[in-house]
Amino acid sequence: MKLHHAHTPDWMEQDRQHIWHPYSAIDSGLPVFPVQSASGVRLTLADGRELIDGMSSWWCMVHGYNHPVLNRAIEQQLGSMAHVMFGGLAHQPASDLAARLVEITPPGLDAVFFADSGSVSVEVAMKMAMQYWQTRDQPARQRFISLRGGYHGDTFHAMSVCDPVTGMHSLFRGVLAEQLFARRPRRRFGEDCLMEELNDVRDLLEQYSNEVAAVILEPIVQGAGGMWFYAADYLGHMRALCDEFGVLLIADEIATGFGRSGKLFACEHAGISPDIMCVGKALTGGYMTMAATLTTSRVASAISRGDPGVFMHGPTFMANPLACAVANASIQLLFDSDWQYNVERLERGLKHGLAPCADLPDVKELRVLGAIGVVEMRQPVDMKTIQPAFVDAGVWVRPFGRLVYLMPPLVMGDEDLAVLTAAVYQVLDSIQSGD
Ligand code: PMP
Repeated sequence: MKLHHAHTPDWMEQDRQHIWHPYSAIDSGLPVFPVQSASGVRLTLADGRELIDGMSSWWCMVHGYNHPVLNRAIEQQLGSMAHVMFGGLAHQPASDLAARLVEITPPGLDAVFFADSGSVSVEVAMKMAMQYWQTRDQPARQRFISLRGGYHGDTFHAMSVCDPVTGMHSLFRGVLAEQLFARRPRRRFGEDCLMEELNDVRDLLEQYSNEVAAVILEPIVQGAGGMWFYAADYLGHMRALCDEFGVLLIADEIATGFGRSGKLFACEHAGISPDIMCVGKALTGGYMTMAATLTTSRVASAISRGDPGVFMHGPTFMANPLACAVANASIQLLFDSDWQYNVERLERGLKHGLAPCADLPDVKELRVLGAIGVVEMRQPVDMKTIQPAFVDAGVWVRPFGRLVYLMPPLVMGDEDLAVLTAAVYQVLDSIQSGD
């Protein structure tokens, strides 16, 4: 591991002493790299090195960093109102964004709740489902069926529907709600899935028929729980099963939304509409933290009719005008760009560029869908060595466990993508030969 002490800024010492990074310990000794600025598809480190970004900052910077159109949207909004409470007040950026989301999401979703982060939007979705059943005089329906290998966030109820093994369930046993888990879909994206694959979901629905409020899943792409792409039919069958048993279907499109999987929303691969849907991450083009939970007028009006007659959630920064303004600009930018072409182009580039990795003995499998490329290793990677190796190779790639994956900004050019994928091969090759 190369250290660049001469260029390590003083403030990094404060970071080391006082700050938690995601899933880390204070002063853990794991490498953390000071970043000075970011523009287009490149991060510039404090020592001046430029890295090609393979992560889109965890799925969200779809248009790249420091985009003039998005910058301008925030600057303009800043001139009139950075924030205002949403209780009792309305503003045009939120109004425009809600209308846009209703227009572009699958049919039937026409009520919007703005949340502060993906996890909160999942909490909101689950509360919506619970309140819905309370007002329908079935208050025992408070449990959720979820898929193994799923990930829905780090707050408590969101955690309860994450994969029980990787999702911290043993750590918080006793406090965490006990949900019902079905096997993850086995058939891959592009394959046909048989109705039998959903037999365990059917069994759970039969066994707990009076307790289930909703099924919650990530459509087509299971992200942080394993980067697994499953058959579109599975989703179609799940919709039918939820209808048969009269339970709600919650689609968590936080990672998949806004084009990443090749469709604007992954539900479109199966042509279904969920009853409740969460979006986040790329919603603001990665500029501000914001998410939204959408639902049907059936669910929304049931909640309003029952006791207490309102939906019981209302965060301080709900519908923050800066976030709404940049989200409106980001969605417009997506539609003004040829995003479908870009995703297909990235899919081809990822398949081509990552293909040599399949020959490495430590690689178990390659998977590519849309602008997501996954190299699954046989063993977990050692972050202490692999992360600096990627940086030395001029790219920003952050693996987890056995998964080395890429989800570049949708605007990344072919040449940068080729450098990125070649760096992945080079690093995995060097790690394994012990260089
Ligand atoms: N759901 C999914 C599918 C996600 O990928 C994530 C974030 N990785 C979340 C929920 C949680 O979002 P946030 O980190 O913004 O709370």
